Amino acid sequence: MEYSYYYPAYPTQQVAAKLDSHIDIHRQAYNYALYEYENVDADDIGSAYNHHYRLPDWKDEFSVFSEVNSKALQRTVTRFYQNLNGLSEQKQNGRKVGNLNWKSPGEFQSMTYSQSGFELKNTSGRNATLWLSKIGDISIRYHREIPDEADIKEVTIKKETTGGWFVSFGLETDDLPEILDVDSLNVDNSVGVDLGIRKYIHTSDGTTVDWLGLEDEYERLRREQRNLSRKDQGSNNYEKQRQTVAKVKRHIRRKVLDYQHKITTWLVREHDAVFVEDLDVKEMLEQSHNARNKQDAAWRRFITHLEYKAELYGTLVVQVEPAGTTRECASCGVETAKPIWVREHSCPSCGFECDRDANAAMNVLQRGFSELGLEWPEDTPVETALPTDTHSVSAKRVIETGSPTLNEATPVAE
Ligand SMILES: [Zn+2]
Repeated sequence: MEYSYYYPAYPTQQVAAKLDSHIDIHRQAYNYALYEYENVDADDIGSAYNHHYRLPDWKDEFSVFSEVNSKALQRTVTRFYQNLNGLSEQKQNGRKVGNLNWKSPGEFQSMTYSQSGFELKNTSGRNATLWLSKIGDISIRYHREIPDEADIKEVTIKKETTGGWFVSFGLETDDLPEILDVDSLNVDNSVGVDLGIRKYIHTSDGTTVDWLGLEDEYERLRREQRNLSRKDQGSNNYEKQRQTVAKVKRHIRRKVLDYQHKITTWLVREHDAVFVEDLDVKEMLEQSHNARNKQDAAWRRFITHLEYKAELYGTLVVQVEPAGTTRECASCGVETAKPIWVREHSCPSCGFECDRDANAAMNVLQRGFSELGLEWPEDTPVETALPTDTHSVSAKRVIETGSPTLNEATPVAE
């Protein structure tokens, strides 16, 4: 259940000035989202969720957007899409409405912190303190206690036309969790995914997808960055070149994002359940080094996409214990150390042989099943569940058809 509580707020003059300036930056962000929505043709525009991925680009291009809390900035983009949806609902109800307009300063008087960047403190008396990241402490009149069992999801701070301030807390109290019907899961239609080293992904049913080749793009980036280093900092040429560099970076980011979108959509659309390794645990195990952090972040985003889309498609996505998925034999469970260059799994104990990553993906699948409390079906021994041939798919194919599956069904809108 979701509901809101309102409180009058009394920022100091100094804090109020900060609030004014932040809200104005949010107003510009709102207007910029509208601008991009109407004028820019790109895959990551059209929903709040996608549009959030443009925010790093915004910050590259306009440093002012780095000044505000980034979750709150996302929330402002979401607000734009909420208004858009509200508008189209009104249209559907037969009302005559225009388009969304740019907000002038008088029309945009609030910002919302979502999930993080805020804290409610000192709640024992009649006054309490709201802390907002990048703003500071704000005193509020705490005339009504927030129930213990309620989670604060959001905080909105608003300037009234009178010049007074209000905060509202978006609260949520748990409803009963939905009971998942794991018994109806189809084993044959569930898949374990090994997140790649040699391949981008390797699934337990033998599909491999290549890494996206970005050599040309990175070469171009290096060239433009070299150019930038030769310009005089602060000059017009420098500024121009800086924007070119930002553009190339953006282009790369979009390509990767689009690739991830396509593969995750395919995974959740085609399967009942998708199992992946738990990256948090994996990183702890491997104590990943700085050089790898970028790819770790990319995998994290991959899993975020996967989980988000799983909800849309009613697919189950489960992260499993990653320790030893490569060493363990998918057939008998005996562990064998394998250096990175050994591409085949060949079990000294039971003799089971297959591709190293296929073996890992199969272990991920089995762990997913035991995580759900399901038995691995006895009539499906690993040797028959594993495909004898690997179905290898190029990045180009995924980009063009949106899917690694050969006979692709009709594409589904996201
Ligand atoms: Zn074995």
